[in-house]
Amino acid sequence: MGLSKTIWTNPTEYLRVQQPENPVLFFAPTVVQAAARRFIDGFPGMVTYAVKSNPTEEVIDNLAAAGVRGYDCASAFEIDLIRRLAPDAAIHYNNPVRARHEIAHAVARGVKSYSVDSKSELAKLIELVPAEGTEISVRFKLPVAGAAYNFGAKFGATEDVAVELLKTVAEAGFIPSLTFHPGTQCTDPHAWESYIREAAEIARKAGVTIARLNVGGGFPNHRLHGVAPQLEETFALIDRVATEAFGADRPLLVCEPGRALCGDAFTLAARVKALRDDTHVFLNDGVYGSLNELPLIGVIDRMDVLAPNGDRRVGEAHPRIVFGPTCDSVDRLPGDIALPADVAEGDFVIVHGMGAYSVVTNSRFNGFGELGLATVLSLRV
Ligand SMILES: *Cc1c(COP(=O)(O)O)cnc(C)c1O
Repeated sequence: MGLSKTIWTNPTEYLRVQQPENPVLFFAPTVVQAAARRFIDGFPGMVTYAVKSNPTEEVIDNLAAAGVRGYDCASAFEIDLIRRLAPDAAIHYNNPVRARHEIAHAVARGVKSYSVDSKSELAKLIELVPAEGTEISVRFKLPVAGAAYNFGAKFGATEDVAVELLKTVAEAGFIPSLTFHPGTQCTDPHAWESYIREAAEIARKAGVTIARLNVGGGFPNHRLHGVAPQLEETFALIDRVATEAFGADRPLLVCEPGRALCGDAFTLAARVKALRDDTHVFLNDGVYGSLNELPLIGVIDRMDVLAPNGDRRVGEAHPRIVFGPTCDSVDRLPGDIALPADVAEGDFVIVHGMGAYSVVTNSRFNGFGELGLATVLSLRV
């Protein structure tokens, strides 16, 4: 997989000319840059990018060009990627569980910010990371709803543990901070409100003035018609609640969106391999490919169907069962998918808002997963 240097007008032009038999993801640099500026202009603090959501080099290059100066990394690979592509950017190593060799790698690369959610992992950091000028953010969790699935199931300290960790961080001479992640595709802004108020409570109980509060990622991208993300409302709420909860001790704010920065900058074109007995639609991409997260967080209804010549299918919407190409019966899109009644073998099914957790979760299971990438001026088909 590598991004072709040719820049196409839009996906339709490429599909008409190239007639690709493999799935193709189209990337619009203008869209990722606009998303970055929307965050930088609107969010009341530092904007960092969660690299895991889409580590494609062109995405990082365009985010850096648009002014993103910080990156949330979870592995040695991601740290090295950012050091190479954005050498002066801040790296926040926010995977709360790390092997010792990974910590040593981060220290050697000058990483100055780490998150933690347990005593055992904090002891490792204290042993291996020089405290001077280094931030440790205690990651806490709350039983709040709002996101598409629950990240608290794996990471985050409960309030009592977070209070103890925060005290230890301050005593050990690190810069004390707090962090949380409300969970991905979080469409309820009040999730952030509960977490920010809880952060103030933890700081108060620990008797520690925190330097920064990282409000995580989880900001949604545009997956459903008529449900456009209300980012500015969420930014305003975060700003207001931070002041209310912390008063004079208000910390600097940081956010680490992944999906909301890269999600809408990519559009997928999958091809109809077969219409089995005119009922089941088989695509050349599925849940082992770039459509991996649909069963986890729900289907995207921002779809179009194009005939091989690029003409849009305009038949009445008709529910279909849609399968991916592999021999595993799990490889099916969730529920019924409304597709034009005249969808035909060889058509292109276009899925918008596909930039997050797609390129990077695509697998080669069963020999499929050869995914094309192309740059376009516009994603409009
Ligand atoms: C995955 C992750 C993010 C990014 O989540 P999005 O839903 O893509 O915004 C941010 N912070 C942490 C700690 C994460 O694990």
